[in-house]
Amino acid sequence: MDEQFDVIVVGAGSAGAVVAARASEEPGRSVLLVEAGPDYADASRTPYDLVNSHNNSYTDHDWGFDYQPTARGGSRPFPRGRVTGGSSAVNTTIALRGMPEDYDGWAAAGNPEWAWEKVLPAFKRLERDLDFGDRDYHGDAGPITIRRYRHDELTRVHQAWLAAADELGYPYCEDANDPAGWGAGPHPMNKIGRLRISTAIGYLSAARARPNLAIRANTLTRRVIVENGRAVAVEVETDGVIETVRGRLIVLSAGSLQTPCILMRSGIGPHEELAQHGINVLRDVPGVGANLSDHPALAIVCRAKDPSLLDADQPIVQTILRYTAPGSEHRNDLQIEAFSFSPRGGPLNSFAIATVLEQAYGTGMVRLSSADPHAAPITEQHFGEDERDLKRLVAGFRDTIAFTKSAAMKEVIAEVTFPDPRRDLSDEGIADFVRRLAASGFHPCATARMGPAGDPTAVVDQYGRCHAVEGLVVADASIMPTVPRANTNLTSIMIGEMIGEWVRTRPSAYGL
Ligand SMILES: Cc1cc2nc3c(=O)[nH]c(=O)nc-3n(C[C@H](O)[C@H](O)[C@H](O)COP(=O)(O)OP(=O)(O)OC[C@H]3O[C@@H](n4cnc5c(N)ncnc54)[C@H](O)[C@@H]3O)c2cc1C
Repeated sequence: MDEQFDVIVVGAGSAGAVVAARASEEPGRSVLLVEAGPDYADASRTPYDLVNSHNNSYTDHDWGFDYQPTARGGSRPFPRGRVTGGSSAVNTTIALRGMPEDYDGWAAAGNPEWAWEKVLPAFKRLERDLDFGDRDYHGDAGPITIRRYRHDELTRVHQAWLAAADELGYPYCEDANDPAGWGAGPHPMNKIGRLRISTAIGYLSAARARPNLAIRANTLTRRVIVENGRAVAVEVETDGVIETVRGRLIVLSAGSLQTPCILMRSGIGPHEELAQHGINVLRDVPGVGANLSDHPALAIVCRAKDPSLLDADQPIVQTILRYTAPGSEHRNDLQIEAFSFSPRGGPLNSFAIATVLEQAYGTGMVRLSSADPHAAPITEQHFGEDERDLKRLVAGFRDTIAFTKSAAMKEVIAEVTFPDPRRDLSDEGIADFVRRLAASGFHPCATARMGPAGDPTAVVDQYGRCHAVEGLVVADASIMPTVPRANTNLTSIMIGEMIGEWVRTRPSAYGL
């Protein structure tokens, strides 16, 4: 109890590592970064599964959670990184920004600091874009290196897929992060060669040398301790030993599945949910764990004509099509994406092409399974229940089927094994697949969303400050009001940049 830090950041993931790195740039401010998983000081000491950006790391640094995608779909694994770098240390390294309209939508919902023109400097600051760093909407000197595979580096599947996109009339898009762009082209990816540039490597490798930054790995945060309406400490557990560490500002960056659980175990959340688990209710906050927003996806599976073309040591993803569903008012609300091989093992004779809905109306929820801080959350997604989402996913899946029928893809596909072409592929037949088989793009967010105090769904204000309790901030994917139209890593890092910089430059706004 003797030790006191100015700032305690819980969770060293895409956002938390960045908050800690930026906040500790002020040498007079002590920062403690608490991480449940292990910590590796630099790339040379990082295990291969975290280095290897050619595929996700699913087991060695994972929380082992699962989730229910649809009412009829049963339960599936829901990977989340448990290591410094968090999910940025295990992910596919797709480095895509949302559409400007996503952030302008957040601003219009009462969060004017998050308008596109205000978040763009943070997106530029975080990246070193090796291809287009000189463009006015890109950065060339940030901690996260981004590049795109050249055409001669694409696997045979990705080359055929790009040729198919051209055949089907989609324009070529050299930079998927061009705010005005759409079409098919190489994915921007945060990697150098095979090395995954997580926030642990991009941000913490350098920041950890600072004497005012302490990193406590293998330490689970059990709850936040609140005294007289103010967060004053965290209760943590290392090797079975429980202790309390005091901080003047507590920042929760444990991710969209765990941040709401820590809030609930601290007595901040929906009254009924807390009461059900015998947790003393400090503040009844209905938005905690509600509004879960994600990207539902459905994949076609193709058996390769020449299985020797498939190699699980090649990059699993290299290309992307961003486009707009017919009749949709949301630009680029669909993605179609080829995978070089089936992502999770099995015989190496097939690859997949996925349809992903990028702007979803449907929401799910995260709940506690138990008051025990070691227990996994219960996560329900309800994909395909919103008719507007269902209609666009069906349209996107139909467009994905068209890829498999193109002359270019026929060069590499022996047969489509899912969906069986003899099955009912009417809109209703595809809708039935969605209701049974849609799965997460692994982009959960909005479970502690930001918004003005009058918004009953909001948990934090636009600076990440908890409405219900002083001295408590949330900075991770859970504060996004809605899922952006892009894979969520870059937006999570941007959130770390925004809040980390505010903590550094406007300390009085955070009670420091
Ligand atoms: C397999 C996979 C592939 C993905 N691929 C991509 C991709 O290619 N591109 C993309 O843009 N997005 C991708 N994503 C999503 C993206 O990585 C996440 O949206 C992003 O990392 C979320 O950042 P975050 O800071 O909210 O949470 P995280 O990065 O998950 O960080 C949370 C951190 O908190 C720690 N933590 C949690 N609970 C506690 C506790 N109680 N005590 C202490 N520490 C705790 C965790 O161990 C973790 O380090 C992928 C995700 C996964 C899992």
